[in-house]
Amino acid sequence: MIPNSMRARDRAYVVHQQTNLRSFEDEGGLLITGGDGVYVVDDEGRRYLEAMAGMWSASLGFSEKRLAEAAHRQMQTLPFYHVFHARGHEPAAELAEALLAIAPCAPGAEPMARVMFHCSGSEANDTAIKLVWYYHNAIGKPAKKKIIGRVRGYHGSTVATASLSGNATMHAEFDLPLPIFRHTENPDYYRFHEEGESEEAFSRRMADRLEELILREGPDTIGAFFAEPVQGGGGAITPPARYFELVQAILKKYEILFIADEVICGFGRTGNMWGSQTYELRPDMISCGKALSASYQPISALMLTQRIHDAMLDQSAKLGNFSHGFTFAAHPVACAVALETLRIYEADDTLGHVRAVSPLFLEALSRFRDHPLVGDVRGVGLFAGVEMVADKATRRPFAPEWKVGERVQRACMGNGLFVRSIVDRIAFTPPLIIRPGEIEDMAARFGAALDEVL
Ligand code: PLP
Repeated sequence: MIPNSMRARDRAYVVHQQTNLRSFEDEGGLLITGGDGVYVVDDEGRRYLEAMAGMWSASLGFSEKRLAEAAHRQMQTLPFYHVFHARGHEPAAELAEALLAIAPCAPGAEPMARVMFHCSGSEANDTAIKLVWYYHNAIGKPAKKKIIGRVRGYHGSTVATASLSGNATMHAEFDLPLPIFRHTENPDYYRFHEEGESEEAFSRRMADRLEELILREGPDTIGAFFAEPVQGGGGAITPPARYFELVQAILKKYEILFIADEVICGFGRTGNMWGSQTYELRPDMISCGKALSASYQPISALMLTQRIHDAMLDQSAKLGNFSHGFTFAAHPVACAVALETLRIYEADDTLGHVRAVSPLFLEALSRFRDHPLVGDVRGVGLFAGVEMVADKATRRPFAPEWKVGERVQRACMGNGLFVRSIVDRIAFTPPLIIRPGEIEDMAARFGAALDEVL
């Protein structure tokens, strides 16, 4: 590394997130300096196909000028204002209206009626947790406070959302999870199904486990269940057949609120605007972020049904204030960029494009089913996971010390491809604008990386 280069200064001064800090201190990392469509470039001029869209998020790639122009326009009009103390601004009002107009609403579901803006998915989910408690206090059920997440679910990094996330490494030495959180099983059909068990039978078993947990804890103590339509940070795990149908019936039976975490799935990732549409979810709240602004600005949203909002009105009347807020929530520049993102989706028919290229994307990755390292390939839309196994016939995983995921991820990087390894799985969520030739490029780079690891 060149002394005093920007890379050296990054290593010297920045604390990196979700990073092995010791290895980073010893070996350093990459410095990304620019982007072009689905590719990014580092400070040494190397070009990488960004098959993770950054953080599962840059849906329109890395060089969308219309978003930069929207930010510039808003900066010149109203560069900052807040939504505290009964004040507002046009971009927030317009964006909230636009989001509610496209919000999912399965037959028989309560429509989304209000929007709260935040800066990150973690803040949106953290707020949802607070609202679960606020709501149950408002309706006279103060004991209904426990929150259920899923093993390997990911919902954020705040104290509460890390507790809700079902990942032991997010808890270790942080003294988490907080005692009010519970985790039900991870519906990863490939990894956990029993010999001869159909997807549907597996889903039934998962739903039974959830019900057992609820009964063990006492239904009167459970306030909410959070789930991502497709588990992202858990390994790009698509739900098995009928899973959500069975789970939602249980939630309804015990009057447990359902929060759909659409932070990754929202805005086209699964081929519909929302994962909730792909899997017929009927949530009481929906959190979203990431692709809301194509990630060009930090913004997230929490959508609520009228029932939740009515309870907030009652509490506010009683207490004299809804005492919650973030300075940068509904930042006008972020709102303007999000609005422009939605306009681009419509003008360019981004959803139509996802549906058109998804079969090629899934087929290109499915070709690796025959690779000696690969046990399973699964996905939906432009969201896929590839699982590596030591033995295809028995699904025996690699020994943890072999770190197969990390090895493949490193080999991908060497081949100019950014993917994300999650234990033994490799996740793919490229920008939604990816073209057929770029999908083939992605598959070729991945194939070369797998062969190197073999
Ligand atoms: N929820 C899901 C499903 C996520 O994947 C993430 C981040 O990856 C979050 C919430 C947290 O979002 P943020 O990193 O913007 O706080």
